[in-house]
Amino acid sequence: MKAILGGTFNPPHKGHIGAALKAADEIGIDRVHLMPCKLAPHKSVGVSESHRVKMIELCAHNNDRLIPELIELTLPSPSYTVKTLRALKEKSDDTICFFIGADSLYNLDKWYEWEHLLDYCHLVVMRRDDEKFSPPPAIQAWLDCHVANDINVIHAKPAGHVVLTNTPLFSVSSTEIRDVLAGAATPEKAGTPNSPNVALASLWLEENVREYISEHQLYKS
Ligand code: ATP
Repeated sequence: MKAILGGTFNPPHKGHIGAALKAADEIGIDRVHLMPCKLAPHKSVGVSESHRVKMIELCAHNNDRLIPELIELTLPSPSYTVKTLRALKEKSDDTICFFIGADSLYNLDKWYEWEHLLDYCHLVVMRRDDEKFSPPPAIQAWLDCHVANDINVIHAKPAGHVVLTNTPLFSVSSTEIRDVLAGAATPEKAGTPNSPNVALASLWLEENVREYISEHQLYKS
């Protein structure tokens, strides 16, 4: 069984890692693959693909439960999860558990061929906010047909189910981190009492990722 968290990882943060590892614990999987996508034009803020890959590799370097999965970067643009899942299945018949945050689930019906996602994987949903779980009606109707009441079903079946996990809340997004870092005047100032927001953003970054961002002057406005 292969657990995959797809994302822009621009930059990767402890919310990605914390939530994914907790979700993995919940469903009884040891390792999580971090799979960067090609950036859609509306998300192409910040840094190059190679920087995003390097930051993912740094996260994996810190934690042997994390593994970079770079297949999506080798596929034609733009990235479509359903096409990536197909490509993964052509490489290996492993059962795929594809992790997404609740915010992504709420927008799932905007994804390319979204009704076919469950042909190739189980979806594992992580909490993204403090609110009661409340997807839009179309998504709720779809969930009613696919939510697994017994978590063991994802170990017994190769695809087709959705698991709503009880991961703790990790209140952070890459957007917030980018915004804060863009406001930092100089790298020397980062983390000083004069720039508490930078210090706060840094708390959500793995130390080697924070150093990498600082060294390469990423996310400066
Ligand atoms: P951005 O702010 O740039 O949109 P993001 O922080 O949402 O980025 P992505 O790389 O786009 O991060 O997210 C990849 C996946 O991880 C998505 O399914 C998203 O919902 C999920 N995710 C991101 N941050 C968290 C978090 N703090 N807790 C749980 N899930 C998260």
